[in-house]
Formats: sequence, C-alpha cells, structure tokens
Amino acid sequence: MTRKILHLDLDAFFCAVEELKNPALAGKPFAVGGRPQERGVVASCSYAARKFGVHSAMPMARALRLCPGLIIIPSFHAEYTSYSVQMLGIVGEVSPVFEQVSIDEAFVDVTEIPPPAHQTAERLQQRINQELHLPCSIGVAENKLVAKIANDVGKAAARGDHPPNTITVVTPGQAAVFLAPLPVERLWGVGPKTAERLHELNVTTIGELAQVPVKDLIRLFGKNGQLLALHAQGVDDSPVITTREMKSISQEVTFARDVRDYRQIAATLRDQSIQIGERLRELGLYGKTVKIKVRWPNFTTLTRQLTLTLPTDQDEEIYQSALKLFSRVWQEGKAVRLIGVGVSDLQDSVRQMSLWEIER
Ligand SMILES: [Mg+2]
Repeated sequence: MTRKILHLDLDAFFCAVEELKNPALAGKPFAVGGRPQERGVVASCSYAARKFGVHSAMPMARALRLCPGLIIIPSFHAEYTSYSVQMLGIVGEVSPVFEQVSIDEAFVDVTEIPPPAHQTAERLQQRINQELHLPCSIGVAENKLVAKIANDVGKAAARGDHPPNTITVVTPGQAAVFLAPLPVERLWGVGPKTAERLHELNVTTIGELAQVPVKDLIRLFGKNGQLLALHAQGVDDSPVITTREMKSISQEVTFARDVRDYRQIAATLRDQSIQIGERLRELGLYGKTVKIKVRWPNFTTLTRQLTLTLPTDQDEEIYQSALKLFSRVWQEGKAVRLIGVGVSDLQDSVRQMSLWEIER
C-alpha cells in the first residue's frame, strides 16, 4: 500500500515567534542568538537576513559582518518550547502517528486519513497559520526521505523577505524523477566523504547515482551502498515512529583503528552523551536508564546499564554514568573496537506536565 507522509517544518521558527511579540521586525534582517561579544552563534535568522548569506549555526560576529544592519535578539527558549508543544498538539489532532524530529519539525503519517495527502497538508498548514500565527512549510510524498527533501527544495525555491509557508507535493511514483536533478548531498547518509568519493566517479546528481549498479555501491560503501541505491530511486521504508514508541536514543561508533587510549574513549563517550542529551531536549524526553555497549577487537560485545534515581536529559549526567559503566569493564591498555551510549526508559515531560495540571 502506498503511504502518505508529510514533513512539517516551521519557517525560521524562533524568528517567527519574535515577530509575534514585535511585529515591527517583519521583513527586517534579524537573528535570534547569542551576542557577538560573547562568541554567540545564530540560532535562527529571518529570511531578509538570509539574503545576506546569514545562516543558523554561524558565529554572530560573522553574521554581523555579512549583514551590518542585522538586529540581534536574545533567544527565549521556554517560549519556543511552548509553541512547539502547541504545534505538536495540532499535528496530533490531524494524525496520531507523528514523529518529532526537532523543536520545529515533524514527520506525520496520514495514510489512514481519508482525504488526499495534499489536502490534509493544506488543512494542517492553515491550522498552524491561524491558531498559532506561525508560518510553516510541508513536504508531501510517499515516504519520509522524499517528503523531507521535497520540503527543503520547496522552501529553498521561495526567495523573498518573508517566510515561504509553502507546500511541496511529490506524487506517488514520481519520487525518482523528482530526485534525479538534485545533488547527491541531499540524500541521507551522503556526508562530505561519501560525496567526495561519488564525485570522483563523476556522480554528482541523485539521477546519476541511481544509474550506478548496486553491486558497485556495495563494494564502495558496504552496507550503506545498498541503502544509497534505494534512496537514489526514492525508495525509503523507514516508519514514522511516534515518541511514545521510541524506546531508546543511542549513539555508537566503530573506530577506524582499535583504541587503547582512555582519553580518546572518554572523549568519544562525551561526544555521544552530548548528542543524546541534545536529542532528548529537542524531543522533550527524559531517560531513566543509561547503557553502554563495548565491542572488543575479537568481536565479543557486551552491554552494561544503570538506572538513575531521576530521569535526565542532561549531557553531563549521561556522560558520567557512561564513564562509570565503562570503567567497570575496562582495564588499562585494553583495545576497544566499538563504543556506544544509549538512554532508555524514556519519559515524556509533556505528559508529566499535563498530569500536573489535572492534579491541581
Ligand atoms: Mg524550521
């Protein structure tokens, strides 16, 4: 059966919230984020600022050099979170099957919703526009990969001083045709390294990638090669996973060379803990169990876990727990092939909050 998937993304979300508080900002170049003197970075920037080359994650000092008239607004996270929760509330009323990807982004499976997917998308967009007064863009396709890319392409095509607030539809069966002219970098799993190797083979577009025999891709990229071949054809079976079904959030890495150095292993655990913490906070989730996975050079693998007194979304707490677990299984000088951290027993802060409200 053909699925109907939406990818919803609020347009310049933090900026849109700031414009609600101060309508005079509309159409002006401004950025939400930290101060340039304090080495702040751009968390979100208006479409008028983007025309100067400003983009998120850029140091604010650099953004100011690119756009000297840039207005800088400090971020107000609690407020953005509250809008995010309301946005997800509307999404959940349209379809209970949705997956929050970040504070302003979600996949929605509307396969079971009777009207054509583009109509459901229009209704969802209207509700977010009217009830929250926030602009949002939606990609519509038969799977997550194509819906996400469709949305990115649609948003990028709308150039102006105002948010795109657009809907981009890829009709079933047209995914490969839609993807063909796009650069391979648009695909999931194509980072700089993979892109470079593909460019060496004269493969720059997704259409060109789709022409490469699967066996060549597997030879070049291992298991990932098979996935690349499917994605290049616009095929993606990954399900929309609702937060409630999400069992754990984890990170693991196989070292290019086995590692014996404690500092390097600890640094890896720290990076992984930070990524997990960020993901938890984006999703508004807290984990009660911290787990590590270690694989030795002979491929034996072990896992160890501990339960925290209180669920957490804090990087440092995850890291300290992971380190404690690791020190129980490792002796000085012992080589490690793979290391991973995970957090499970996830709890939904949003639901805890609503329980609170009922009890009062
Ligand atoms: Mg967004």
